[in-house]
Amino acid sequence: MVIGICGGGQMGSGIAFVALQAGCKVLMYDVVEGFATRCTQYLEQQCEKAVKKKLMKPASVGKLMDNITFVPSIQGLKESEIVIEAIIEDKKAKQELFAALESVLDSTTIIASNTSSISITSLARELQFPERFVGMHFFNPVPMMKLIEVIQGVKTSPAAVETIITLTTKLGKTPAVTKDVPGFIVNRVARSYYLESMRLVEEQAVSIEQVDKLMKSMGFKMGPFELVDLIGVDTNYAVTLSVWEQYYHEPRFAPAMLQKQYVDAGLLGRKTGEGFYPYPEKL
Ligand code: NAD
Repeated sequence: MVIGICGGGQMGSGIAFVALQAGCKVLMYDVVEGFATRCTQYLEQQCEKAVKKKLMKPASVGKLMDNITFVPSIQGLKESEIVIEAIIEDKKAKQELFAALESVLDSTTIIASNTSSISITSLARELQFPERFVGMHFFNPVPMMKLIEVIQGVKTSPAAVETIITLTTKLGKTPAVTKDVPGFIVNRVARSYYLESMRLVEEQAVSIEQVDKLMKSMGFKMGPFELVDLIGVDTNYAVTLSVWEQYYHEPRFAPAMLQKQYVDAGLLGRKTGEGFYPYPEKL
């Protein structure tokens, strides 16, 4: 199976890795210069880890790397059987990309969006063939996280949902089908985890480090601030804004000024070398 991926950031690269591991061919497209080098490094690191854990034979690494092609334009995605979009969490940017994809792909090729929060129905609004458009929401880090939310927009066909469920299983993941509600399931529930923690820090009730330590002592794998640093402080902020707007500015989903300041300062988490915590190895 040939999978096209738009956006070779942390999610796109992770999706590429699990698709390659499942034996798919991957065509990857991004707009940023040097994305192929960045993605290749990521894939090599993941292979190394998998070999160390004996999940992959050293001899399979070369074959896996041979199955990815970095394409310089959207036209290069033409042969894809399914295209997965994982570009920035911005509705306009995604809609422009989907319009461009429709001019290249066959009318039946499934287009799946990895959006964390934007309405699948609204993303499909201007499409010529909205029935082939569906949400496929992976979790971070993609190689580790088993869950994928499969989101059915108002015009998504049952066949498109079935195709994504089948792909999810092929990737060794577990599908959870959901209707198209703001934040879907996990990101709606998780808003409280992030936002209440940020409000506590804004009220000077507790420090960032203390919140994370306490939540981990309660059994959470990561504290909220560590998790936002992993996700990307900007990406997480964009998701909060999107959910808040879709719920008509409901106060419980309102973004925290604390987080906006980190975004404004370019302290975006692990990917920039500093967020709520420093990551000197990335600097
Ligand atoms: P990222 O910033 O790491 O990567 C985004 C990539 O998209 C960048 O490489 C950028 O150059 C590229 N891009 C931007 N505009 C483009 C365009 N028009 N065409 C092609 N490429 C373009 O972001 P990410 O964390 O990988 O998130 C990507 C998507 O996945 C977002 O919609 C996000 O909400 C969603 N998501 C993120 C997480 C997470 O934990 N980070 C989890 C689930 C879903």
